[in-house]
Amino acid sequence: MTKGNGEDPKTGSRMERFQQGVRKRTLLAKKKVQSITKDDVKSYLLRNAFVLFTIVAVILGVILGFSLRSYKMSYREVKYFSFPGELLMRMLQMLVLPLIVSSLVTGIAALDSKASGKMGVRAVVYYMSTTIIAVLIGIIIVVIIHPGKGTKENMHREGKIVQVTAADAFLDLIRYAPLGILFLIAGKIVEMEDMGVIGGQLAMYTVTVIIGLLIHAVIVLPLLYFLITRKNPWVFIGGLIQALVTALGTSSSSATLPVTFKCLEEINGVDKRVTRFVLPVGATINMDGTALYEALAAIFIAQVNNFDLNFGQIITISITATAASIGAAGIPQAGLVTMVIVLTSVGLPTDDITLIIAVDWFLDRLRTTTNVLGDSIGAGIVEHLSRHELKNRDAEMGNSVIEENEMKKPYQLISQENESEKPLDSETKM
Ligand code: ASP
Repeated sequence: MTKGNGEDPKTGSRMERFQQGVRKRTLLAKKKVQSITKDDVKSYLLRNAFVLFTIVAVILGVILGFSLRSYKMSYREVKYFSFPGELLMRMLQMLVLPLIVSSLVTGIAALDSKASGKMGVRAVVYYMSTTIIAVLIGIIIVVIIHPGKGTKENMHREGKIVQVTAADAFLDLIRYAPLGILFLIAGKIVEMEDMGVIGGQLAMYTVTVIIGLLIHAVIVLPLLYFLITRKNPWVFIGGLIQALVTALGTSSSSATLPVTFKCLEEINGVDKRVTRFVLPVGATINMDGTALYEALAAIFIAQVNNFDLNFGQIITISITATAASIGAAGIPQAGLVTMVIVLTSVGLPTDDITLIIAVDWFLDRLRTTTNVLGDSIGAGIVEHLSRHELKNRDAEMGNSVIEENEMKKPYQLISQENESEKPLDSETKM
C-alpha cells in the first residue's frame, strides 16, 4: 500500500524516524559543545597540568639547548647548567631500588602462588615475543635501508664512552620533574658535538633506528594490545604520556619507573597486583627498544666494515641482541655497553662502537621511551589475560571477609546478650 502521495507509509515513517534521529543527534552534539564551559576547560587543564608542564619542558629544553649552543660554553659551565637535570636523575634513581623490592613483595603477597605463577608465565611470554619481534624489525629495516654503505674511514669517531652511574633516588621530589627534564635535555643539546660530524652514514643510521622504533612502538605494540584486549590502545597510551616524556627526558627506564607506576595505576586504572608484580621485572629485563637497536647497530657496523654476514651470523646477532637487552640495566646508555656482547659474538670490531657514540645519547632517549611503552602495554595485556584469576582472588577475599564476619557473629551475639544482661553502671550504682 502507498500513501496518496505515492509514498510507502512504512518506508516513509522509517525515513522520518531516521531523519528525526539525525536531528536529535546533531542537537545533542551541539548542546555538548555549547555545554563545555570555561570551568570544564580550567579543570581539564588543572588535571593535566603536570603532563602539560612536562611536555612544555621538553620543548623549552630543546629550544634553550639549541639557542645556547652558539655561546660555546666550557665543560664546567655545561655541567653547572645541567645541574637541575642531574639532580632530578639522582632523585629518581634513589627511589628505584626500594621501589622495585617493595612493589615486588607487595605484588606477590597479594596473589596466591597459582595466580602469580600464571601471571609470571604470561609476562615472560609477552616479554620474549615482543623482544624477538623488535629484533626482527631491527634486522629487516637495517638490511633494507642499508645505512652503512661506503667505508667507515670518513666517519667521525668519538673516543669517549659516557660514564654511567648506579641508580639511587626520592619520590616526592619528582614534583620538581618538569624543570629537571628541561635542563636535562637542554644540557645534552648544549653538550652535543657539532652537527657537521654527523655525516651521511650516521644520519642514515639514525633515521633507520628511528623508523624501526616507530614501527615497533606505533604499529606492533598498539596492534598487539588491541588484538588481545579488544580495547583502544591509543586511550591506554594517552594515559602514559607523562611516563613516556619522562623516559625521553631521563634516558632511563628504571628512573622512569615511579612515573610509570603512577600513570598505569592512577590514570589507566591497571590493577595494582599486576603492576607491582610485572613492572619492576619488565623495567629490568624487557627492553624492546634496546633489543631492536642492538641488532640494528651491530649489522650497521658490519655494513660499514664491508663484512658480509651469513644467515647463521644473523641468527647469532638476534640471540645475542635479545640477551644483551635483557642484561642491560635500565640506565642511560646501558645498551651501548652490552653491545660489546653482540659485536664479539660475530667477530666484529668492538672499537667501532665509537662510530655511533655521537648519536647514541639521542637514540637512547627514543629506545628508552619504547622500552617503557613495551613494559606498560605488557602490564595492560597481562592484566587482561589474568582478569579471571584476579576476580577469583577478589571473590575469595570477599568470602573470607564474609566468613570472618559470620564467625564473629555468634560471639558478637553472645557478647551483646551479655552486655544486655549486664546491669547498667547507673543501675549498679543506684
Ligand atoms: N637507557 C635504556 C633504558 O634505560 C637502556 C639502553 O641503554 O638501551 O631503558
